[in-house]
Amino acid sequence: AASQQNSQLLPAVSSFLSSPRQLLIDGEWVEAKDGQTFDTVNPATEEVLVQVAQASAVDADRAVVAARNAFESGSSWSRMSPRERSHLLWRIGDLVDERAEEFAQLESLDNGKSLASARGDVGVAAELFRYFAGWATKMEGTTIPMSVPGREFHAYTRREAIGVVAGIVPWNFPLTMAAFKIIPSITAGNTVVLKPAEQTPLTALYLGQLLLEAGVPAGVVNILPGFGDAGAALVDHHDVDKVAFTGSTEVGKKIAAGASKNLKKVSLELGGKAPNIIFNDADLEAAIAGAALAGYFNEGQCCVNGSRLYVQRDVFDQVIEGVAAAAKAIKVGDAFDPATTMGPLVSQEQHEKVMGYVRGAVADGANVVAGSPDPAADKGYFFSPTLITDVTEDMAVQTDEIFGPVITAIPFDTEDEVVAAANNTVYGLAAGVWSKDLGTAHRVGSKLRAGTVWLNTWHADDVTLPRGGFKQSGWGRELGSFGLDDYTELKTVIAELR
Ligand code: NAD
Repeated sequence: AASQQNSQLLPAVSSFLSSPRQLLIDGEWVEAKDGQTFDTVNPATEEVLVQVAQASAVDADRAVVAARNAFESGSSWSRMSPRERSHLLWRIGDLVDERAEEFAQLESLDNGKSLASARGDVGVAAELFRYFAGWATKMEGTTIPMSVPGREFHAYTRREAIGVVAGIVPWNFPLTMAAFKIIPSITAGNTVVLKPAEQTPLTALYLGQLLLEAGVPAGVVNILPGFGDAGAALVDHHDVDKVAFTGSTEVGKKIAAGASKNLKKVSLELGGKAPNIIFNDADLEAAIAGAALAGYFNEGQCCVNGSRLYVQRDVFDQVIEGVAAAAKAIKVGDAFDPATTMGPLVSQEQHEKVMGYVRGAVADGANVVAGSPDPAADKGYFFSPTLITDVTEDMAVQTDEIFGPVITAIPFDTEDEVVAAANNTVYGLAAGVWSKDLGTAHRVGSKLRAGTVWLNTWHADDVTLPRGGFKQSGWGRELGSFGLDDYTELKTVIAELR
């Protein structure tokens, strides 16, 4: 697989991988202060792709100082007009499009996802720059009437930047997650320190090169590859004003606790365990294909993964048969093979975790209808898409976020019963309903406690739509017009007209 990949690499990608990658601080590529580096590994081959500088707390401090200076009044960034910011964002979107194939190759190598999938992610990132380019000139306030007898006032609101934002992101959509944090930050005039996931630092660093090329001033976006300690140093830093985090609920709780020490603003996009409900009257062909997509897209490594399948009793066997056939039809293999529809999981750790859940389910008496608890290859972290029945609500495979291509299926009889089961989780990120009856679909959708509800579809989304979690799936909303609010402070100005 390694040689097949190497022969297909674009010159820019080979060149990017030919020397160790550094941190981006204050517009310069620099080593970590203590000289530490770590390996980033290709999950399809288990080979090291390149060494990457590993940020420590000292580097976090250097980056925050740079971001603060870039934010201060009088800096070129603070003087840049909204229109100039808008044009800058648009220019970056175009650059991402121009380099789309380079980004896609790097993403596939580092994360394992198929090239087709990676190309989709790059397209989302480019579009996100253009979508937010529009918002830069539309951060409007309101004028608000005031009633004080005998006196006259003019009161209005302004949306202002918060200051220095620390963005901390996971490995499942490395480029788009970096874009989700950087773009709304700079649209609103903030400066950013981004910490990519240790498993997948490469596309964020590649984006860093483009940002400099596009003319983003020094210090406005700083990129610090590293581990959780570097993230924690940003969360603890007295001069960070906001933490924007995407990752596990477990780490999200640590972030909230850390940020509470000096009451930083916090937004959290956390884990999920989404229920996907198929009623007897659903369009079964669409529902079966949708269930497989819900559970297996991106190797199942999606926060909105439709991992808990609930099927009404009359059609249970038919749906299981269909989803099992869909699982078996998925071609698991190397990202660069055009026939591949599912790449490896991101890391050995993730592979062991997913295997452990499936083995645990088997030990608990569940039935593996498709896939297996075993690795799908000798080399690389490949894992076959798996469908499990004879599951009970108390099994770990049913309660925990697995973050792999594993669907558990349970039959149900009544609407009330399935709504209660679907909501019986600490998570509330996504949910889905399949029914041809409009009343059923919308009624059940309204009862599901989740930030996104899909009716007769799954994974359909756009940069225009807000996303986020109910319950322990998060705080705040990303993207869409709502996505900008969390990156601004609202100021009320009251002037007496004397
Ligand atoms: P993770 O929480 O382990 O790590 C996420 C990031 O946090 C990484 O960059 C990591 O280095 C950093 N980190 C780890 N410990 C830290 C600490 N103590 N302080 C500060 N930063 C720290 O998550 P993961 O395993 O990389 O990603 C998978 C998780 O992300 C899943 O739970 C998934 O549901 C979630 N996720 C959520 C969304 C969403 O939009 N809600 C999107 C993608 C992924």
